[in-house]
Amino acid sequence: MEDEQAESFEYQPVQVLKGVGQAVAEKLKRLEIYNIQDVLFHLPLRYEDRTKITPLGSLQLGQQALVEGTVDHCEIKYAGRGRRSLLCYLSDNTGTIVLRFFHFNKAQQANLSSGTKLRCFGETRRGATRLEFVHPEYQIIQHNDGITDQSLTPIYPKTDGVHQTLLKKLSDQVLSKISEGHLIDWLPPQLMRKYEFPDLMAALHSVHRPYKDENVFALNECKSKAQQRLLFEELLAHQLSLLQARNEIKKTRALKLPVSKKDYAEFTGGLSFELTHAQQKVIAEIFSDINKTHPMLRLVQGDVGSGKTVVAAAAAMAVVNAGYQLAIMAPTEILAEQHYMNFKQWFGDEKCLLLTGKDKGKNRQQKLAQISGGESQIVIGTHALFQDDVIFKQLVLLVVDEQHRFGVHQRLALREKGFSSGALKNIVPHQLIMTATPIPRSLAMTAYADLDYSVIDELPKGRKPVTTVVVSTARRDEVIARIKKACESGEQAYWVCTLVEESEVLQCQAAEVAAEQLAAELSRVRVGLVHGRMKQQDKQAIVSRFKNKEIDLLVATTVIEVGVDVPNASLMVIENAERLGLAQLHQLRGRVGRGEKQSACVLMYQSPLSENGKQRLAILRETNDGFKVAEKDLALRGPGEVLGTRQTGLMQLRIADIVRDEHWFSDVKKAASYIIEQHPQAVKPLVRRWLGKADRFVNV
Ligand code: ADP
Ligand code: MG
Repeated sequence: MEDEQAESFEYQPVQVLKGVGQAVAEKLKRLEIYNIQDVLFHLPLRYEDRTKITPLGSLQLGQQALVEGTVDHCEIKYAGRGRRSLLCYLSDNTGTIVLRFFHFNKAQQANLSSGTKLRCFGETRRGATRLEFVHPEYQIIQHNDGITDQSLTPIYPKTDGVHQTLLKKLSDQVLSKISEGHLIDWLPPQLMRKYEFPDLMAALHSVHRPYKDENVFALNECKSKAQQRLLFEELLAHQLSLLQARNEIKKTRALKLPVSKKDYAEFTGGLSFELTHAQQKVIAEIFSDINKTHPMLRLVQGDVGSGKTVVAAAAAMAVVNAGYQLAIMAPTEILAEQHYMNFKQWFGDEKCLLLTGKDKGKNRQQKLAQISGGESQIVIGTHALFQDDVIFKQLVLLVVDEQHRFGVHQRLALREKGFSSGALKNIVPHQLIMTATPIPRSLAMTAYADLDYSVIDELPKGRKPVTTVVVSTARRDEVIARIKKACESGEQAYWVCTLVEESEVLQCQAAEVAAEQLAAELSRVRVGLVHGRMKQQDKQAIVSRFKNKEIDLLVATTVIEVGVDVPNASLMVIENAERLGLAQLHQLRGRVGRGEKQSACVLMYQSPLSENGKQRLAILRETNDGFKVAEKDLALRGPGEVLGTRQTGLMQLRIADIVRDEHWFSDVKKAASYIIEQHPQAVKPLVRRWLGKADRFVNV
């Protein structure tokens, strides 16, 4: 199949195009552009209208426009602190605007002398006295010659080193060649008729080079028929790829793990609390899944503190009683350690083993031997569990906690970690994925089409909602006083430091400084510090001391974001809260409000805070419901950021937008099953066309 496709035009390498040598091809790789088809499906993000000249007098605020005019005069204006700008007053017979440049040189200034005719493209902003273009593109013209672009200007998503002009040249070449007709339209005629879609070639032409009389606003909202067709096809391709991955796994065999009533009663009897109805319901769903000979693929969603760990423990019980092995993966060492402590309590020391990146040399070898020998039935760890040399004797269940940190591909790679030998060699583990990222249901069903889905939609009894306040750092003293009061009355608190920089080193340094400062300010409060660069034992020691109330105030980087469970902690202060995503803040806040006491979360921000920033923090003040937070966050920021698509490889969309195009979801689902049943030959090429290299797992 691969070879056959490699022959056809769409799969020819980009090097067949003019102007693409080795170096350019390397750059294009960064954009995942390898062949002709990839060029065609590298779609414009938006459009600019440079086809007509807009009279200055009719410019609206926020409008992008091509204008022409004559320079009246130019001047340099000084603002405070040595900041200066070059202002150039441009007018035609309908009005005047200002061109503002912050960076300019003498020659440029001289070029813009009175009487010079200019053509500019820019976006209007409100200026001091009239509308302005800040750093517009401009060219000096001899006469008002009126020659403008013939089609709307596509703006492609670009990365370092690949320019619009190159992308335009490449798509020009491909579009003219492809008119000779090579590209297969894989959408079945029934669907084309049903939605009155234009055919593929027409759609691509119109999306890359829209006619000058098309409405640029509608295009920028992806409303044209051509765009609708392409985004439908893209959503369809994603759906097909997930369903295909699911089918591949469902075809494999897993071990049937029945659970008796007696075992379950014993398990619940050993807990120090009663399971909520929601927990019981989800456990029942899991038990029914693992009592089958095909692998379970289940996602369990539950807000922070809803009690997902014990649900995983119920599944673990089924495995342990049957005499096999399970693995539990957590995104951070702290969380892995905490699970390890919990599971040791529930199942006893000997059965549990913790493996993280910190295990080296002899120690690690010893642990690996216990895993491959099967003595350790419950293996808990971080990414370290992925490594090739970690071989299980008989792995039948895999639990992935806080899934948003793990990618689809990583999960798929793990299924190969089943039985290492013997009669059950080809057995694939059941998979249970747990996440606190509460995404709206319709979105979940689409983004996780490869998984069955359960929700723990109830918190354990007696939880009091966390009171959230938003304050400026100017009120830091009040916040300090509040911590003092809380700690002196026997409560415990978190202080979370955030930093814009990705650098972990800097994050940790910032936390160290904050801890010192707080210790100095709060003399009678016992301050502890925990961050990602500390040794495993030290980190664990600090968290244990906090649990044992030997530390009152725990200063931390966002490493405590997931999992840490200290019910006596009732106050959390988050510094520079505006820097974090809402989902992340909600996760952090979930560390308090776990005990009997009324808890509070103080979101401190650095002024001035943007309007959008204020709105975002206000959402947290208004609700404690993770689903509501997620929905609003989604509306404010878009799915890419909320779901962290980059990290998870959940969905990397070219033209579709999960929020804007939600109304297509149910049709896309139907179309996907229809294609799988009636046109199975279209599945692979569609997936390849839209997901390119990202579909590694489809070709297993
Ligand atoms: P999360 O869903 O955020 O992972 P955890 O599993 O860490 O939540 O549970 C949070 C806390 O709630 C833990 O201390 C756990 O022991 C406790 N817990 C879980 N289920 C219940 C329940 N049904 N009743 C009371 N406490 C519970
Ligand atoms: Mg958890």
